[in-house]
Amino acid sequence: MTLPDEFVKFGVCYGVFEKVKSIGEEGKMTPVVDEEKCIGCGSCADICPAVFLLNEENEKAEVIDEDGCDIAGCCEAAAENCPVEAITLE
Ligand code: SF4
Repeated sequence: MTLPDEFVKFGVCYGVFEKVKSIGEEGKMTPVVDEEKCIGCGSCADICPAVFLLNEENEKAEVIDEDGCDIAGCCEAAAENCPVEAITLE
């Protein structure tokens, strides 16, 4: 069996780590909530509680983990289900 150069350079684990790291950086999404648009329905926090929280005081959604989208995998669903399109993924 022949492995690609990137995998044998410093061992298989290093190659896998670098590959996963590069994929993560390419697909990185940062969620942003437009507070002017947000109507405080709480849908995003229900769908993706690892990233969004409904602030009970001002009834606006907050992003509690800007780096959480790639791990949680639910930011796109939260954005798609926001009734006023207040969530963007940058
Ligand atoms: S789904 Fe949209 S409107 Fe509802 S709380 Fe989240 S950002 Fe606000």
